[in-house]
Amino acid sequence: MTDGYSIFYRTMADMTYLEVVEASKKGAVVLWGLGVIEQHGPHLPLATDVYLPYALLRRAADVLEAKGIPSVIMPPFYWGVNHVTGLFPGTFEVRPEVMAELMVDLIKSLKKDNFKNLFCISGHGDPLHNWTALNAIKRGGKEAGINAYFVCTPPFLARLKTNPAFDPADPTIVPAEHSVEPKKFVDVHAGENETSAMWSAFPDLVRSDVLGSLKSTDYGPEDLAEWRKGREHALRKTPDGYLGDPAASDKEMGRQRVLDDGRFLAEAIAGRLNH
Ligand SMILES: [Zn+2]
Repeated sequence: MTDGYSIFYRTMADMTYLEVVEASKKGAVVLWGLGVIEQHGPHLPLATDVYLPYALLRRAADVLEAKGIPSVIMPPFYWGVNHVTGLFPGTFEVRPEVMAELMVDLIKSLKKDNFKNLFCISGHGDPLHNWTALNAIKRGGKEAGINAYFVCTPPFLARLKTNPAFDPADPTIVPAEHSVEPKKFVDVHAGENETSAMWSAFPDLVRSDVLGSLKSTDYGPEDLAEWRKGREHALRKTPDGYLGDPAASDKEMGRQRVLDDGRFLAEAIAGRLNH
């Protein structure tokens, strides 16, 4: 292990207030990753859902800059709803209403800094977490007088659509493409996808020595529905804490996906800004 990685690096947390003023005057858009701290199998750190959106936003910020769109990255949000894995060791959870109030206050903090546009992405699959985030972004943006958006790739849109109150014309949602192809079996939690991306962006945090021993869960949509009932159901379905195929992960594939998906995010953001 090294001394670790700072999730504040290149975010507003490492800027001075004068640099924030300067960025705001330039019309910088604010980028915000929403994750949680939850168990991610025997091979990935608890903060995987915080690290991955952070890595994607750093890449998106570079692509936006090349398009002439200045941005700042807000420090990651990492206390959220963990209905599914809430019974596993290492998982932290807050009630949806606590998450929503905290998010709204943080969004309102941007108002005095004169930021006009906020783009959020989620790194965490729990449907209730994402539904809570969507509504907090909507309310925070309204109360702060800021254009606040939730940039969603197809898997995140699918999760929001499971809520009966979902509005397909919701202007808060900005759809984005992503590079991950559907697989034969479901790979949603600490599987090939997240492991590849973590391995490429934060290699010292992946316990690569155990990867080879982790058998694919080989689960389909019905198993996923059962797992999503959460808590004791998730413990029973995935006693090892992952749903997918971590042993199939590949560092180079993860690197390429972070590059591609960060670019897709930037393109979706630029599209909403009409660039
Ligand atoms: Zn995850």
